[in-house]
Amino acid sequence: AAVPLGSSVIPIINKLQDIFAQLGSQSTIALPQVAVVGSQSSGKSSVLEALVGRDFLPRGNDICTRRPLVLQLVQTKPRSDGGSDDEWGEFLHLPSGKRIYDFSEIRREIEAETNRLSGENKGVSDNPIRLKICSPNVLDISLVDLPGITKVPVGDQPSDIEARIRTMILSYIKKPNCLILAVTPANSDLTNSDALQIAGNADPDGNRTIGVITKLDIMDRGTDARKHLLGKTIPLRLGYVGVVNRSQEDILMNRSIKDALIAEEKFFLSRPAYSGLSDRLGVPQLAKKLNQVLVQHIKALLPNLKSRISNALFATAKEYESYGEIKESRAGQGALLLNFLTKYCEAYSSTLEGNSKEMSTS
Ligand code: GDP
Ligand code: MG
Repeated sequence: AAVPLGSSVIPIINKLQDIFAQLGSQSTIALPQVAVVGSQSSGKSSVLEALVGRDFLPRGNDICTRRPLVLQLVQTKPRSDGGSDDEWGEFLHLPSGKRIYDFSEIRREIEAETNRLSGENKGVSDNPIRLKICSPNVLDISLVDLPGITKVPVGDQPSDIEARIRTMILSYIKKPNCLILAVTPANSDLTNSDALQIAGNADPDGNRTIGVITKLDIMDRGTDARKHLLGKTIPLRLGYVGVVNRSQEDILMNRSIKDALIAEEKFFLSRPAYSGLSDRLGVPQLAKKLNQVLVQHIKALLPNLKSRISNALFATAKEYESYGEIKESRAGQGALLLNFLTKYCEAYSSTLEGNSKEMSTS
């Protein structure tokens, strides 16, 4: 599967994780969460899905995402026999270990679980659905798909639906380790963007907000998003990426993500308004940008990790010292272990009369 997200960060993370694995379980790298925010039907779920490279999220021109979906991506080893069923999903609310290999079944389960808690009639709940996606092609990261901001209550929604959804969104994006994809459709006014407004609340300096402009294909005739993409309308520190995701018709016709990516590229090549902007156009560029931000994040974490390593080293040295000798080589560690074993055997054998000779020689 063509999965852009994480392709350039995976090697770095793997190396670091190899190093930290030797330090014990708590020394792992906490990668940030990535959350999508924006108004309803702005294309948030579509963007996430394109980033993951698989079809599994409910999407549509109505309220589809009615509970937060915390998507934990877990990188697994590819099957040694090259078999293709090496990607699956596991839901936290289902019996543990139940692997779902069919991604359309994953979507149906998200829909069923949404209805179970939020009702069939457009209700919204802040109780998240947790889904783990295991695949050799992803980075160990979590993505959060959030309900969109809506203003007018429909169905079973309470009258304060907008405030409730805003509070829910903020509870995710105010965390300093949350990267925000602020999604605004190109066919609405950027200066009216709910996404940029709420992202600006949570991240006023714009250190962790990437602007995403969707639906470039359905803008009003004669208009384009060039100015927005260049940051001339609303400047954003990390900038904007423009994308074209699948339309509702594409969804009904089961157009694949791969075909959609090809169509997206064609679209940008055919529009003179977007020439020279290739570094901020398309889902692959969005993934690249996200990767760059992740690398920055890891770099920022390194000094802290370094001090954790030296602390761990120091504590270990101290512990060795308390045993009377510091052993640095493998042979030295072996000797230390032997020493422990001998002491243990002596203690053991002294409680078992008669066996002492056999024990201490083994
Ligand atoms: P969400 O509510 O923000 O999660 O939005 P969805 O991802 O569910 O998308 C809402 C609707 O917009 C769906 O029908 C999508 O097919 C459509 N859509 C999303 N992105 C694009 C795009 O870039 N171009 C077009 N033409 N339609 C899009
Ligand atoms: Mg959605």
